[in-house]
Amino acid sequence: MEKRKQLYEGKAKKVYETDDPSLLIVSYKDDATAFNGLKKGTIVGKGVINNRMSNRLMKMLEGKGIPTHFVEELSERDTVVRRVSIVPLEVIIRNISAGSFSKRYGVEEGIVFKKPTIEFSYKNDELGDPLLNDDHALALGLATEEEIAEIKRLAFAVNDALREFWAGCGVTLVDFKLEFGRLPDGKIILADEISPDTCRLWDSETKEKLDKDRFRRDLGGVEDAYAEIMRRLNEAMK
Ligand code: UDP
Repeated sequence: MEKRKQLYEGKAKKVYETDDPSLLIVSYKDDATAFNGLKKGTIVGKGVINNRMSNRLMKMLEGKGIPTHFVEELSERDTVVRRVSIVPLEVIIRNISAGSFSKRYGVEEGIVFKKPTIEFSYKNDELGDPLLNDDHALALGLATEEEIAEIKRLAFAVNDALREFWAGCGVTLVDFKLEFGRLPDGKIILADEISPDTCRLWDSETKEKLDKDRFRRDLGGVEDAYAEIMRRLNEAMK
């Protein structure tokens, strides 16, 4: 499988057409952005880690009955995925307070919730990805009622599987963002990526941050944190 026309270049990935209209190739970059593109930088080796990690986690999720766009890893940065039309919602699951949740509601980070929460943002950079509820998503025609129900069911199932997996690596899954897509027949599948760019991952013992917050908050040791979380995943999947 080879890359043909570049369809799109995002903040962290490029997307190419292939000779098969139902398949695309995504290519992971080392570019990092935060705060809706306001902060820019490079995390050396991030693209390789995010590609491998996302693929392995999606494969694990497939084994648990969660449909994903993952098809085949081509190289250290390139992966074949199923072409979908992306549902323009950022789906965020939280197990523990952090980030924008703590800021918005004026609470400390690290409060363990009795049960996981879900929230949606409208995927729209110009508007700064505003928070919205199910009814707003329906009113805007972003998804149908059935699609929203399916997305919620899948997102919580992903949380159960990822939480258990990371716990086995001595890592606490604090929160994460998912994106879903529609296949031509209307089926909803998991798309985009699952990586330290899109998840908050804390060492279970020390609470050390092993994710993109090290970049967002200028904590230093960014590359080391990505390497450490990849090392733990490799160890668990050996
Ligand atoms: N997240 C993401 N992309 C975004 C916004 C959030 O991948 O555009 C992830 C982020 O890494 C974290 C979770 O979603 O794991 C919740 O992020 P939050 O809403 O707290 O926003 P942030 O504090 O990152 O702005």
